[in-house]
Amino acid sequence: MLRELSEALQPYPSNMYELVIGEAIASDFTAKTIKVRLNNSGPDSKPREIIYDHLILATGARYTNDTPWKANSDYQSLITLLHDTASKVEKAKHIIVAGAGATGVEVAGELGYEYGKTKTITLLASGQHVLPGEQESLSVATENELKKLNVTVQKGGRVRDVVTRAGEGEERYTIQLENGTKLECDLYLPTQGMVPNSEYVDAKHLDPKTKTVLVDEFLHVTSVPGNNVWAVGDIVSKPRAGFMITQKQAASVAKNVELSLLQNKPPVPAKGPPVDILACAVGRGRGVGRMGSIRLPSFGVWLAKGRTLGMQFVDQYISGAIA
Ligand SMILES: Cc1cc2nc3c(=O)[nH]c(=O)nc-3n(C[C@H](O)[C@H](O)[C@H](O)COP(=O)(O)OP(=O)(O)OC[C@H]3O[C@@H](n4cnc5c(N)ncnc54)[C@H](O)[C@@H]3O)c2cc1C
Repeated sequence: MLRELSEALQPYPSNMYELVIGEAIASDFTAKTIKVRLNNSGPDSKPREIIYDHLILATGARYTNDTPWKANSDYQSLITLLHDTASKVEKAKHIIVAGAGATGVEVAGELGYEYGKTKTITLLASGQHVLPGEQESLSVATENELKKLNVTVQKGGRVRDVVTRAGEGEERYTIQLENGTKLECDLYLPTQGMVPNSEYVDAKHLDPKTKTVLVDEFLHVTSVPGNNVWAVGDIVSKPRAGFMITQKQAASVAKNVELSLLQNKPPVPAKGPPVDILACAVGRGRGVGRMGSIRLPSFGVWLAKGRTLGMQFVDQYISGAIA
């Protein structure tokens, strides 16, 4: 379910905002300008330059391959990619999902739930467990849930190379793993390798390795004169990428911009969620998760997430009731 951004702005007087649909392609934090390539503008048209007092970077992160896990471009391209992927899934007999983080587990779980009895679904985990970085007991529980949906987890399955070739009317993929194993499938869905959408930001503000934006405890982008550039969400990915963290960071920055603009007061440190929650749907019937270090029951994850994948909150995001 996708909704128009303009809907969320409707309650406000139209002279209080401008919605600019386009891609930020360059920024100058000294001149306080940002250049935006407007959607629906011709290839030769000049980008629009916008002057700001405060700038908030919230352009997130993307998957580098042609997959619909995130919104990487405009509305129509995303819809087309979603439908194309669904139609490829429908036709495929053997689907390999690469990367066994939360996204890979959720994708494999959905496929297993719908097609576990009619198609071969393989999830490649680069290490010895799914959900790397989590407690082993949680990873083992996740693997057991996937097994119930007939998803095969192939461990030590780090991908080295993928060759695509056209078969009889359909694509075929040969996947070479680092351990020497070669796998064949007719649909390959990579979920690994997220990169921040930070190309329009000068490299001196970025972590040289991850390219995420560097911020201080107030979520000011570091080394900006005047401390009037902020960053939230997956473009920062600290303490990790997650929408509950993003939501809290957005609220902190909104508060700090208000303190600065309206009250001329110093900023307050940004607060994260009171407890780190991981909730991973495994198909439409079950799930795994934890609240802090306490394991959540499958039923609880299903109730809170897997049952609807949060669709019931869309109206509240649009109305601003959730912030
Ligand atoms: C399959 C999946 C399941 C997830 N489940 C959960 C979960 O259960 N719980 C949880 O906490 N988190 C979850 N996450 C993570 C969560 O979705 C992200 O942490 C959250 O979306 C980050 O929000 P964001 O606004 O920072 O970035 P994004 O959601 O990445 O949004 C960034 C937006 O900016 C746009 N953009 C990019 N570059 C530019 C540019 N140069 N100019 C203008 N616009 C640009 C993008 O098109 C996009 O619309 C999940 C992620 C995935 C992929």
